[in-house]
Amino acid sequence: MKPLGPVPAGFDAVKGELAIGGQTVSALFEQAGKTPLFVYSQEQITQRIGDLRRAMPDRLRINYAIKANSFRPVLEHVSTLVDGLDIASGGELEMVEAIGFHLSKVSFAGPGKRDSELEAAIAAGVTLNLESANEARRALVIGERLGTTPRLAIRVNPDFDLKGSGMKMGGGPKPFGIDASQVPALAREIVEADCEWRGLHIFTGSQALSAEAVIDMQAKVLELAARINDDAGVGLPKLNMGGGFGIPYFAGDEPLDIAAVGAALEERFSALPANLQDTEFFLELGRYLVGEAGVYLTRIVDRKESYGETYLVTDGGLHHQLAASGNFGTVVRRNYPVAIATRFDAEPQEEVNVVGCLCTPLDRLADKAHLPRSDVGDIVAVFCAGAYGASASPSAFLGQGPASEILI
Ligand SMILES: *Cc1c(COP(=O)(O)O)cnc(C)c1O
Repeated sequence: MKPLGPVPAGFDAVKGELAIGGQTVSALFEQAGKTPLFVYSQEQITQRIGDLRRAMPDRLRINYAIKANSFRPVLEHVSTLVDGLDIASGGELEMVEAIGFHLSKVSFAGPGKRDSELEAAIAAGVTLNLESANEARRALVIGERLGTTPRLAIRVNPDFDLKGSGMKMGGGPKPFGIDASQVPALAREIVEADCEWRGLHIFTGSQALSAEAVIDMQAKVLELAARINDDAGVGLPKLNMGGGFGIPYFAGDEPLDIAAVGAALEERFSALPANLQDTEFFLELGRYLVGEAGVYLTRIVDRKESYGETYLVTDGGLHHQLAASGNFGTVVRRNYPVAIATRFDAEPQEEVNVVGCLCTPLDRLADKAHLPRSDVGDIVAVFCAGAYGASASPSAFLGQGPASEILI
């Protein structure tokens, strides 16, 4: 038997079934008319962001990295609760334009920005988080051609990373950001040219559950920003401190202690060096805001035995939930939190493998899981599906097409 990840708080049984926002999964399926289905809870997102704000210092702004979940109703809802949106492509720029979000509160990071993307962002008044000196110069040329002063910030590739994070995005050779030692000279160069200087972006990693690691990282980010600001001498209007707040996916994972992170940051903010006193500070978070508020629901279409093991074959799979299958940045495959949604209050009775409908051995949703007895027609729930689910899975693979999505 392999353990399942922890089911997030806020999901109850109603009439024996999993209920999301008070509605049973059967009712939700009826409403959507199609399986598989992602269900996102508006109430849980609201609550999560409220709790986070209460834990963090008042002066800290919170941005949403929309790549975690850009389903339009989710994006619209989150955008009413955060201070800014972070995008990473021209396509995501179109999404934030489509919901009418204030574009001066949008920043655009990501390597390999095309000229057309730089142009669209500059014209819209979006802040560019520059990923290279070359990109900085291209942005200045495009700004001049458009007659628009570009809003520019520099993404720093720091000389440290986020300890214990699932995905490292800084420290050592990386395609992201500009090596810290080169930043002061480039900052002076672009400020002397014609730009609206927005400051620095320092993102070091993702999916950290250790408060100690996050506190240590934030201290280093503030020190590095102060040092660069000293060297560059151009001021620091804004500092995007990155994020990296993780959520528990696997057995043994404990939630991040945001109270401890907030208290440590409050202390830092009360003793800032003189050259950061007037800086506006931002966190940019994706999965922490929306990940636990989403559930992926898929129906069992077959049940079979093979050499002594039981397989529940569903109509979903890795084409919607790549991360749960263990093929999105994980080394060892572990089980996400999974349940039989139509028998949510039943006791586990048997060991089963839950798989998807794709003709590849990679398509697994739970291995050797201890679950209630279930059959064809029952619904499987995969939790922690609110981030990097639909938006990060190969929905065209094998012609299966995307899942439905609803925000309730
Ligand atoms: C992906 C990404 C994020 C969001 O990461 P999460 O782990 O979802 O919080 C934030 N900032 C940048 C630059 C990113 O690339």
